[in-house]
Amino acid sequence: MVNVVRRRSALRRAALVLAGVLAAGAVATAAPASASSPSLTPPQGAMTVAMGRPTPPAPSTSVGTGGAVSSVDASASAVGLEVLRDGGNAVDAAVATAAALGVTEPYSAGIGGGGYFVYFDATTGEVTTIDGRETAPAGMPTDAFIDPATGTPYPFANAVSSGLSVGVPGTLATWEAALDRFGTESLRDMLKPATLLATRGFTVDETFRKQTLDNEARFRAFPDTAELFLPGGEAPEVGSIFKNLDLARTLRLIALRGTDAFYEGELAAEMADIVQEPRIDRAVSSLPAMPGFMTTDDLAAYEVLEQAPTHVEYRGLDVYGIAPSSSGGTTVGESLNILENHDLASAETGQALHLFFESTARAFADRNAYVGDPAFVDVPTEILLSQDFADARNCTINPLQASPKPVPAGALDAAGCDAVALDAAEGAENLSTTHLSVVDQWGNAVAYTLTIESTGGSAMTVPDRGFLLNNELTDFNFVPNPADPNTVEPGKRPRSSMSPTIVLDGGEVRYVLGSPGGATIITTVVQILMNRIDLGMTLPEAVAAPRASQRNSTTTPGAITTPAEAAFIAAYADDLAPYGQSLTAVAAPGTSASEIGAAAAIEVDASGLMTAVAEPVRRGGGTGLVVEPAP
Ligand code: GLU
Repeated sequence: MVNVVRRRSALRRAALVLAGVLAAGAVATAAPASASSPSLTPPQGAMTVAMGRPTPPAPSTSVGTGGAVSSVDASASAVGLEVLRDGGNAVDAAVATAAALGVTEPYSAGIGGGGYFVYFDATTGEVTTIDGRETAPAGMPTDAFIDPATGTPYPFANAVSSGLSVGVPGTLATWEAALDRFGTESLRDMLKPATLLATRGFTVDETFRKQTLDNEARFRAFPDTAELFLPGGEAPEVGSIFKNLDLARTLRLIALRGTDAFYEGELAAEMADIVQEPRIDRAVSSLPAMPGFMTTDDLAAYEVLEQAPTHVEYRGLDVYGIAPSSSGGTTVGESLNILENHDLASAETGQALHLFFESTARAFADRNAYVGDPAFVDVPTEILLSQDFADARNCTINPLQASPKPVPAGALDAAGCDAVALDAAEGAENLSTTHLSVVDQWGNAVAYTLTIESTGGSAMTVPDRGFLLNNELTDFNFVPNPADPNTVEPGKRPRSSMSPTIVLDGGEVRYVLGSPGGATIITTVVQILMNRIDLGMTLPEAVAAPRASQRNSTTTPGAITTPAEAAFIAAYADDLAPYGQSLTAVAAPGTSASEIGAAAAIEVDASGLMTAVAEPVRRGGGTGLVVEPAP
């Protein structure tokens, strides 16, 4: 089931605000919260948000009750917590936290990007998702990423920092749809903490400085970006205060005028201009910065999709995720269904990890063969999520010996151990994006992953507006191929790996989780669930544990090796060797690319005790907070 959710037009807004007031009134007994006011005057009584200078140290894990928030950033988690404390629900808190992440994590998320929002409503027991994925412009040709001069694809890095890679952003429309459908607060109020944060500034940490330095050359190429993110010509020092007054102004404009101020009018025209004519300084950079295709019509026409979640059962739990256009839900689901064939809890560690690798390799083969935007491709979502299909795929796994990679994709009518050899094209990887998890006092939950694709997106800032545009369209495969589900088509959403996941136990929320990390997101989510559910780890241990990511690599055909963090290699290489599994370091220790993912998760146990868990170390550590900490 897919519902196209139209953005509110100026004409329809008044009626919807009224409906919002009525809806908020209807849930008031279950979730007391302030209803949106139809007036456009600035709200009275600003939300008090704990966001001092400097940012106070924040725990990566907190245990307690009353609501929980987890994200990669202390200020953003504090914003979400404050919304929960003030009586907002999980959706309100998720939107406010996401907006704050757009300030403090501007290279990973923000209104210039898109994402996927999964919501569990404790009252109805239903899980709903919002697909706010960026979309290819209507005028984008299928060979847009082929250089006419050479007839071959543009080098990936050149495509990233260009107008060509910019998809029509979906993040603001997602926030609006989420609040309209499931929230109790207005977008205007939920943008306030982020606006304050952008105005007062946040303390630059090592991650922010490092990400700025990693992007320095291309940020310098675009003077609007250099002006914002290289103030005084340099990356901001650790410990300094970084303000983004342009973004504060943009958020205030949207708070007052609604999302039309973004999707229509001056700001929309500015975004289209910059995409069609990238403002690069050719004196300082040889980047070609190819023009792109996004127009004001594309922006005005953008719509999020509300659709049914993916669902599999795993060890008696109900695992819900995001359906295509992301491959997250089907690939996490298929991996778990394959693992369901094995008693991992009693297996030796080496064998459990061997089976983890072999299951994700098969699920990735099938993802690459079958998953794309279902508006353009006949995606066999039901089959990919069926236990029968997973059982057939499991037949191809030798429980004692690794298979050479890439393994072929499965035939959709596979019975027994049939498989077909299909090309298993592999997508590009990077380590951007951000995820947040929220549970409120009523047991509603949100898993929300949002991104501008690469760290620093397209590197193109909308002049004086304070935010970067995404490069999401580089998630398409560049070579036009009608048989490839992820080939470029006008109006299509590029295949994602984002995997915001909610796990229910007997109809109540048990785990909420997700991570950044490109295609490694999928293996990170599977690994955390396996660590927690099968391998006896607590949730903080499951998140902190070293990671590996087997994605059916095609880089060295016939090889059997799995990219892993150095700590994973140190801990498990010997256990895995008897199964013919070898490991390769993802990157030199100490570099940010040496980490796989940056998860943010929450567990609610059967008594209602909440454990909010963020990374203790990866990406500089995140922050998990609860409303009422346990003594
Ligand atoms: N664009 C990627 C996706 O949708 C996410 C980017 C990342 O996490 O690195 O799968």
